[in-house]
Amino acid sequence: MNANEQVWTKVINQVRTWARMNSIWAVHFNSGSCNGCDIEILATLTPRYDVERFGIKLEGSPRHADVLIVTGPVTRQARERLIRTYEQMPEPKFVISVGACSISGGVFEGCYNCVGSVDDVIPVDVFIPGCPPRPEAVIDGIVQLLTELKGGKARAPQKQNVPEEIAA
Ligand code: SF4
Repeated sequence: MNANEQVWTKVINQVRTWARMNSIWAVHFNSGSCNGCDIEILATLTPRYDVERFGIKLEGSPRHADVLIVTGPVTRQARERLIRTYEQMPEPKFVISVGACSISGGVFEGCYNCVGSVDDVIPVDVFIPGCPPRPEAVIDGIVQLLTELKGGKARAPQKQNVPEEIAA
């Protein structure tokens, strides 16, 4: 790559990062939550907290989303759907794990129908603790992600047991 190409690549990457930071589209996935976290997510995304003013928008299709917001522990029933949703998202993609249950299993830890936390199934970039976390905490988690994006370095996946179908 010559010097001219390097300059253009740098400029294009800067424009991409700028565009991404100002238009984050998020898809929400409940992998087994009691709905407490989901209500806080909805409060965050609706006009009271109004994250659309930062360009953050709830998107219905994972194929158009940048960020996957996951709530709850991962149940056996939801595991495959969570993996499929993650795989359908275009690169680069990011995952935010919201609530104690999504981080560690929380009150559902050890239940016969749960396979574990979100990062037991897919890579997670940002963890937001709480039961449930308040909208301010959710916004703070999104800001963490944007800060990492601004620095040009999204956090390396924290995954311990990436399923083969994702690790490939
Ligand atoms: S963290 Fe609390 S509110 Fe969220 S899913 Fe678990 S029990 Fe429900």
